[in-house]
Amino acid sequence: MVTMDEIVSLCKRRGFIFQSSEIYGGLNSCWDYGPLGVEMKNNIKRLWWKANVQLRDDVVGIDSSILMNPKVWEASGHLQNFADPMADCKVCKKRWRTDQLSEYKCPECGGELTEPRMFNLMFKTFMGPVEDESAVVYLRPETAQGIFVNFLNVQQTMRKKLPFGIAQIGKSFRNEITPGNFIFRTREFEQMEIEYFVKPGTDEYWHKHWIEQRINWYYKLGIRKENIRIREHGKDELAHYAKACVDIEYLFPMGWSELEGIANRTDFDLSRHQEHSGQNLTYFDDETKQRYIPYVIEPSAGVDRSLLAFLIDAYENQKIDENDTRVVLHLHPAIAPVKAAIFPLLKKEELINKAKEIYSNLKYRWIVQYDESGSIGRRYRRQDEIGTPFGITVDYQTLEDNTVTIRDRDTMEQVRVHIEEIVPYLEEKIEVKF
Ligand code: ATP
Repeated sequence: MVTMDEIVSLCKRRGFIFQSSEIYGGLNSCWDYGPLGVEMKNNIKRLWWKANVQLRDDVVGIDSSILMNPKVWEASGHLQNFADPMADCKVCKKRWRTDQLSEYKCPECGGELTEPRMFNLMFKTFMGPVEDESAVVYLRPETAQGIFVNFLNVQQTMRKKLPFGIAQIGKSFRNEITPGNFIFRTREFEQMEIEYFVKPGTDEYWHKHWIEQRINWYYKLGIRKENIRIREHGKDELAHYAKACVDIEYLFPMGWSELEGIANRTDFDLSRHQEHSGQNLTYFDDETKQRYIPYVIEPSAGVDRSLLAFLIDAYENQKIDENDTRVVLHLHPAIAPVKAAIFPLLKKEELINKAKEIYSNLKYRWIVQYDESGSIGRRYRRQDEIGTPFGITVDYQTLEDNTVTIRDRDTMEQVRVHIEEIVPYLEEKIEVKF
């Protein structure tokens, strides 16, 4: 299996992910997405949106603000409960999250730990020029609350009937005690969340439905089945308001870890917001003529964690023959940052012109690259390493019969295709049938 160091190194070398503020020595746990990383990240977000919003008649999207009225966090319980137990090693001074330790001593030096104390994970700042208690606001630690507080706005303006969902993608912030494992756990990250509102009593059915949907999404995008598993939370692990929760876990280099959580949150959130805001957040059921607070199923995924899982899953250091190896990312074409690279076989004007013409046409549709430098073999390898699924080469035959070769990244086999057929050929392979 690939190591995290190999992934970090590829990401830096090829412009996927850089350390934040690197020229100043970086900032702990902060990362910047480079030109290829941002394309890949956008693809993941678009594919999530497509499967969960665009293709579903029962889910709509929103984009709520990161700063919210602090009363939201009082109602949601975050001000009181969104805390992890933390302790310091009395010897080496390292800080640990004690709920993640198997024994109560320093995992690094074996030293004695201080008593654990609770540490709230929300980032605090001030709104406006005066830095006093009344100006305190928080950076949201999840996107979910922006959905709950807009429940009525969305339900009424879109005239939605239960069951229906609201989806959101956006940044969240948590002052994690022990960030690490590259982009797996950071203090600033992006989430993709759905709150799916259902009639109480149908919640278990919909919980199963969403677990299936979400697992299939990863499968459809090429994640290997043996690297994904479902883990149900034990009763002792469940948040007090949740009726059930499962994690979709991925086999990361540091072991099985959470990729996404899918919880049955009952009517906890809307009830709390109704109580704290004094607004009526019940739903009127036309069929039964009853008013009630819906239950909610919450599939909550991390953009960065998915991206990391897709990279790890796709990475191969492949031995081709006795003295030849290549690094290749077997990314699903829909996720790959660059869809195709266009090459003139040789640096000859007539080949270059034709290749550039093809490139100009394709870039209207997809992110593609043109490359004329180095041997054709080297050019293919550069693309393999960033996961470009197709290499389109213009040679002398192209000038005679308007055909090009298209090389498949994974099999390295080539087919001859008419120029007019390039778009449908690629489209068929890039499009995901959810
Ligand atoms: P963990 O147990 O790993 O701290 P969590 O159970 O607190 O995670 P949730 O609150 O369920 O996480 O958040 C939903 C999703 O958001 C997670 O499955 C993960 O993909 C993502 N996520 C949460 N915290 C972070 C973080 N610090 N960095 C990157 N992604 C995160």
